[in-house]
Amino acid sequence: MKSQRIRFQRMMWGFASLGCTLTIVLGLYLFGMLPAYPTIIYTIVVTLMAASFVVLNKSGLNLRFKDPSMTVAQITTPLWPAIYIMYFVSDAQARTAFLLMATGGLLFGMFALPRRTMLAVGLLIFTAYLVLLCALTTWSPERVNWQVEVVIVFAYFAVLMIVAYLGSVIAGMRTTLKKQNHKLEILASRDSLTQLPNRRSLMDQLAQESARLERRTPEQSELCISMLDIDHFKKINDTWGHDAGDAVLVKISQMLQKIMRQGDFVGRFGGEEFIIILPESTLPAATLVAERIQSCVSGLTFPELPEGTVITVSQGLCMHHTGDSIEATLKRADEALYQAKAHGRNKVVVS
Ligand code: GH3
Ligand code: MG
Ligand code: MG
Repeated sequence: MKSQRIRFQRMMWGFASLGCTLTIVLGLYLFGMLPAYPTIIYTIVVTLMAASFVVLNKSGLNLRFKDPSMTVAQITTPLWPAIYIMYFVSDAQARTAFLLMATGGLLFGMFALPRRTMLAVGLLIFTAYLVLLCALTTWSPERVNWQVEVVIVFAYFAVLMIVAYLGSVIAGMRTTLKKQNHKLEILASRDSLTQLPNRRSLMDQLAQESARLERRTPEQSELCISMLDIDHFKKINDTWGHDAGDAVLVKISQMLQKIMRQGDFVGRFGGEEFIIILPESTLPAATLVAERIQSCVSGLTFPELPEGTVITVSQGLCMHHTGDSIEATLKRADEALYQAKAHGRNKVVVS
């Protein structure tokens, strides 16, 4: 799945940052600023942590969580081993390297987190540092230089809040962009008058259905298509006006959408022509659906038209066979529709 892959990619970037922190820890150990024992524990814990995130993603267990990207968990869990190892760093200045890394980690929040969560995570990171200072003051006060720490704590607080704020602004922009993209997609795939899927969307759907057909066994492979055209529509426009014509189009569209079964698809092919896609439907079953549409349309009443006006439609119905091109099938449906028109309209002709 695409989103799982993106989540995994982001996780890898998170691991890259975790790897940097691990490099710092190993460097401090090599320079003699960290004892061996905590270094080993840190390395094991961090590796296990990373491995568990990979297992969660690869097994799909993360999909059961409220946030499948596990963003907050991925920012905050490495925090605790970092605080643990910072306690053992003998040089106060060396500890600030970890603060920089934690701030970098917070930046990952801009992929997903709303402002309040971002600020809360920032505060949590800050609190963790205060916890460390308390621990040091209690058990190893000679390693705390309070003048320096006050400055660091102040600057660190400010930086975390700035990062959290700016990160959440970017996160907000991403969300807006996503929503707008979604809206644009809908706009581009729908017909503005009837709100039905438009021709482009119909062609996409036909391509999908015919591809699905190729993967099925011959007994299952049934896909029927009906091309529907409103009878004498030009006369409706000419007699009662274009707005009345529009109203007829909208009402018929709504009716078509209402009576479609789950899995069926209806769209406006253009003008007063519609296409109905009936997957997993035999030709006799599709004919029954088409006949039902005929009687539903002729039963519609239109407040915009004089009382008693009956609108009818004609349909050309055909089956799409595996191996046929969509264009060829549409041509057959169109020919059947032409026959229906030629034989007096208000009827279904099966190709
Ligand atoms: P037939 O029974 O043979 O289908 O005759 P017809 O009059 O329905 O067919 P024709 O193709 O001659 O006319 C279709 C008309 O549909 C012409 C066009 O102006 C009108 N039309 C196309 N799109 C719209 C629309 O969005 N709104 C309105 N009101 N009319 C439209
Ligand atoms: Mg027509
Ligand atoms: Mg027409």
